[in-house]
Amino acid sequence: MKKKINRSPKITLKKRTWHYIQDPWEYEVKCDKCGGNNVQWSEFEKFIWCEDCKIDTKGTEGVFGGPIPIEAAGLLGMCFDRWDMRKKKIIVYDRKKKKDLYLTLKQYRTFKERVCSEESNL
Ligand SMILES: [Zn+2]
Repeated sequence: MKKKINRSPKITLKKRTWHYIQDPWEYEVKCDKCGGNNVQWSEFEKFIWCEDCKIDTKGTEGVFGGPIPIEAAGLLGMCFDRWDMRKKKIIVYDRKKKKDLYLTLKQYRTFKERVCSEESNL
């Protein structure tokens, strides 16, 4: 299927290698054309795909428009873990080790359970 790109001359389209595991609308990112939230991550970096407009577009900034209070975002159910499309693994930031970890889905579930139980012990 050939996709119509909402192209601006200043933007070079680069194929994504990762996207956040949650959908754009969960970060309050909407289609900047129709204002709808029927959107997914585009196959191109910095773009989203609008199901209604059938275009790749930049989208609104959502929570990425300002400094993100990670703790607050977490309380809102947002999660900034990423899906590595090439490695087929989930990238999580380990706050204790201060580095990115590459986990399989199974490892990720275990990791999440551990982190959640640690946080509820605070
Ligand atoms: Zn749209």
